[in-house]
Amino acid sequence: MILTADQIRARVDADWPQILGVVEDRIALRPISAHGINGEHMRKSAEYVANKLREVGVDAKAVQARDKDGNPSAWEVIGSLEVNPNAPTVLLYAHHDVQPVPDEKEWDTAPFEATLKGDRLYGRGACDDAGGIAIHYGALRALGDQLGVNIKVFIEGEEEMGSASFIPFIEAHHDEFDSDVIIVADSGNWAPDVPSLTTSLRGNATCDVHVKVLGHPVHSGQYGGPVLDANTLASMLIAKMYDEKGELAIPGLMEGEPIGGLQRDLDEADMRAAAGVVDSFTLVGTGSLASRLWTKPSATVIGFDAHPVKDSFNVISPETTFRVSLRVAPQQDPHVAMDAMVDFFEKNAPFGAEVHVEPLEAGMGWAMNPDCEATQDALTSLKEAFGIDPVNKGEGGSIPFIPELQKIFPDAQVLVTGPEDPISNAHSPNESVSVSGLRKDVVAEALLLDKLGRA
Ligand SMILES: [Zn+2]
Repeated sequence: MILTADQIRARVDADWPQILGVVEDRIALRPISAHGINGEHMRKSAEYVANKLREVGVDAKAVQARDKDGNPSAWEVIGSLEVNPNAPTVLLYAHHDVQPVPDEKEWDTAPFEATLKGDRLYGRGACDDAGGIAIHYGALRALGDQLGVNIKVFIEGEEEMGSASFIPFIEAHHDEFDSDVIIVADSGNWAPDVPSLTTSLRGNATCDVHVKVLGHPVHSGQYGGPVLDANTLASMLIAKMYDEKGELAIPGLMEGEPIGGLQRDLDEADMRAAAGVVDSFTLVGTGSLASRLWTKPSATVIGFDAHPVKDSFNVISPETTFRVSLRVAPQQDPHVAMDAMVDFFEKNAPFGAEVHVEPLEAGMGWAMNPDCEATQDALTSLKEAFGIDPVNKGEGGSIPFIPELQKIFPDAQVLVTGPEDPISNAHSPNESVSVSGLRKDVVAEALLLDKLGRA
């Protein structure tokens, strides 16, 4: 059965109080995983979600994951709904835990009371990720017995705590989660009225670079001249990372263009304002701003052991360490990028100073398959639901579980959607979700499931 956007919209409209009610209920539940992932409040939160999913036909239950030492940890919600063994299977992901609220006074509304102001519903978790749960619930509710795909559900209970149980849990339930398409509703749109798929995430590789020039500190008046201090030598090494255009000059790092093509570049003035860039600074690098933020690598010195200015004295520092966080292009293996970075620092030791590089962690990025049928169906569904062409967007940072999920299920098409938009304030005070945007997201996911069902 092929449903039109209008038919789906009418169903979502009819059920809207119940669908938005899920977001309102979730805000009141205070499911803050930082207050104890295995706590009673998290069990209640998981039970609520399982109950809502059962309402729309999913055989769902709350189960407690085990951490790597076998101790009870996060409360997860899993479930399934089989309609036809020959139909494709879609795994729906969201998370039911939320960020804490360190200071309620920073909020204009009570953080745990859903408060509607204009088109926005305020409350902790409204967009991250109660909205994601509401999208899955609303789409299944709208399709009802017309659902043409088999559904599996995983609503995680510790996403905001770094998903420590995620991999062991997925591996323990491998067959239960095995699917053709995975919809991760934990990201967002270009704007409340402009839909997006999230197309890529950068990976990361972090290392410590130790630079040594002397066996012990010496007087800078006595030895300054032929001997450079470790801070200066380290700075020379750091300065070599970028060329005169501000392009990263570390050989062996991949760079790419926005996945699925660039429909709209980011606005430089908006980006400067959001980051508070000083007026005199010229943004560095070449290519679109989107490619520089999403698909090209970048290196940042995130730590540097130099003597503080206060109480400094006339000494040549013998050794120092700096830490580099490298953001890796979505398609590059972060271990390959790490090797390139280690090689670069070791080969560029200024004046033969001892340089020793210590690799720390490396995490995979992720890139959507822009050409597969599921992606095309998702873009068409977003267009029909919003009445406007979607604008693909990448992420400069990482959502670590997405590459993990892709690694465990390499053949599944992962689609990243969600109810956030640039003014949602996820993780911050005054978090909110656009009510009209959320409604269109529900319509879009229902249309997508419907299209996948007839593939
Ligand atoms: Zn989230």
